[in-house]
Formats: sequence, structure tokens, C-alpha cells
Amino acid sequence: MSRVINFSPGPSTLPLPVLERAQRELLDFDGSGISMLEHSHRGAKYSAVHEEAKSLLKELVPVPDTHEILFMQGGATGQFALVPMNFLPAGKSADYINTGSWSKKAFAEAEIVGEPRWAGTGQVDGKFIRVPKQSDLELDSGAAYVHLTSNNTIAGTQFHTFPDTGSVPIVADMSSDFLWRPIDVSRFGLIYAGAQKNLGPAGITVVIARKDLLEAASTKVPKIFRYSFIAENNSLQNTAPTFTIYMVRNVLQWVKENGGASAMETRNQKKANMLYGCIDEHEGFYRCPVERESRSVMNVVFTLPSEELEKKFMADAAAEGMVNTKGHRSVGGIRISMYNAMGPQEIEKLTGFMKSFAQKNG
Ligand SMILES: *Cc1c(COP(=O)(O)O)cnc(C)c1O
Repeated sequence: MSRVINFSPGPSTLPLPVLERAQRELLDFDGSGISMLEHSHRGAKYSAVHEEAKSLLKELVPVPDTHEILFMQGGATGQFALVPMNFLPAGKSADYINTGSWSKKAFAEAEIVGEPRWAGTGQVDGKFIRVPKQSDLELDSGAAYVHLTSNNTIAGTQFHTFPDTGSVPIVADMSSDFLWRPIDVSRFGLIYAGAQKNLGPAGITVVIARKDLLEAASTKVPKIFRYSFIAENNSLQNTAPTFTIYMVRNVLQWVKENGGASAMETRNQKKANMLYGCIDEHEGFYRCPVERESRSVMNVVFTLPSEELEKKFMADAAAEGMVNTKGHRSVGGIRISMYNAMGPQEIEKLTGFMKSFAQKNG
């Protein structure tokens, strides 16, 4: 077996024990003689997995009783549309915070449904190099909600503290940093996160929604797109992506076995300190465009002195078993995605490579 270190932004690397377990259990799940891929979503074997995935989320995030946990399809992109369909009534507006590509996509979907409004931006001279501070925001106290992207997978920025929005609920796209540390869920009206970054394979979006908001939401929405209907049916209104939820359950067990969300925070901070430390040590060769307080612990972006050197960097890294280091096509440069499953020893190997690359080519 020759596995490489995969810095892909998503679908991204999964914990090796989780993959090995899936392999072990593939043909015969839990003595049933059939695989999890073949079990009915209404059967006892799958039900136990479904409930355990929910209870692990409740414990690890943690999720208070005021909030519901849903498993939905359609990705985070589906949520861009569903949020305004359910929570943006006619005559009301919603505030959106602009921190780059994903926020803009969310805004564009809301525009189809109602009247979103930009309440602040992280753009400086055309570039998304920070997240706005509280003082940069112009919030509307009458807004239906405030939407933000907690971690910007492409720009490499992240909210380390969340704005105070008064009584207006925060809706957060946490697709690329969900469970990187414990969250105070009581501060949010709704959280959504596509699984393929920090939680498992693609195919499921975890949603955590305040129950009173679900009750007050629009009912002029087809049922399959209605959060309250999904909640009433325990996310089993139709066939669930059973194997993906099984994989998410296994990743959550792995998080728990490894000390839970607080331990993930320590692990992620350690990796971020190593990598940003290495970039800053070689200032002039490696350059991170993101302002220090907004730097993401999940997606680290940086540039080299020339595009040629960046190409050489990617090729040399790949030759040493480190792949998918290319920045997003819209920003260029290098991007290292290091979600929970990425270990500190992999980042140590990367920074070792970066030091010698800078020495040879600087
Ligand atoms: C990946 C990503 C998305 C898009 O997710 P899909 O599952 O492809 O719809 C949205 N928002 C953020 C922050 C992301 O990282």
C-alpha cells in the first residue's frame, strides 16, 4: 500500500482507521451478512448508525436541546437556496457578510428568492485577505438573519470570533471548519456543513437549526425543501445516503476516541502554528496574503516569488508524496488544506520540505 499525503480542499483526506474499518466491514456489516451499502434505511442496523451519528454530534459539537440536528442532501450549495426559501419572507431582507466566493454564491441564491443585502465585506483592494471586524459591519436590526461563511476555503480566511448580531439569528456556512473546535451553538440560528471537508465523504450536509426558527419558517415551500418537515421525519423522509452517514458516524467516533472537539482544536492549532511559522520564517520567499488575525487554521494559502517556482513546488512536493497543493484557480498560489484528519506529523514533513525547497530555490 502506498498512500500519499493529500492536501485536497475537499473531498479531503479521511482518518486511516476510518477507511480501514469501512474496508473491514464492507462485505458483512455487524454480522448481518450484507454490507452497509445494501441495508435498508428503515432497518434496525442502519437506524442504530443514524441515531449514533446524531448523538455523537450532539455530544461533540455540542448541540443543546434548543437545536435540531438534520442530515440533508444537495450540499452546502443546496443550503444557499434553502436558507432564504425557508427563512426569508416577502418584505423582509437578510444581511450577508461578504468574505469571498462562497458568500457570493449564497447571496446570489438569496437574490432569486428575496432581498438580501451586503452588511460588510472582507475585501481590501479587491482581495479577500481578512474577515470583517464587528466595527466594519453595518447590520440591519430588522433583518431576517445574518449569513456568514465561518471559514473561507478558497481565500484562507476564518472567523475566530463571531459578530454580535443582537436578536437577529446568525446563519453560518461552516462547511470547511465544522468541528475544528467546540462551538457555542446557542449563538446560531442555523449552521450547515457539507461533510466532505471535515466530517466524511461527500453526499451529506449536517444542519443544526434552532427549533423555534423551524416552527416559524415558511410553509410555502415544497416539503422536501422544508427544514421543519425534515426535522419531523428525523431526516428519514426519503432514502438517506446511508453509506455516507455511516462514514460520518465512523469519523465522529474517531474524533471522540481522539479526545473530542477540544483535542481537535489543540491539534489544529499546533499544525497551524507549524505551517504559518514556517511561512513567516521564510518571509520574502513564501508569502501569505491573509491578515494575521484572519488566518484560517484549515486552509493555508501562500505564494512563492514566481509562478514557475510555484509549479516546481507542486511537482517536487508530489515527488515526495504530498499531493493537491495547488491553490484555487481564482486566486492561484499554493493551498494546504489540513482538516481534522490531517496529522501534525504530516505538516512536519511538509514544513521540512518547505525549508529545504526555500534553501535550494531562494
Ligand atoms: C465546499 C464548500 C461549499 C460547497 O459545497 P458543496 O457541497 O459542493 O455544495 C460551500 N461553502 C464552503 C465554505 C465550502 O468550503
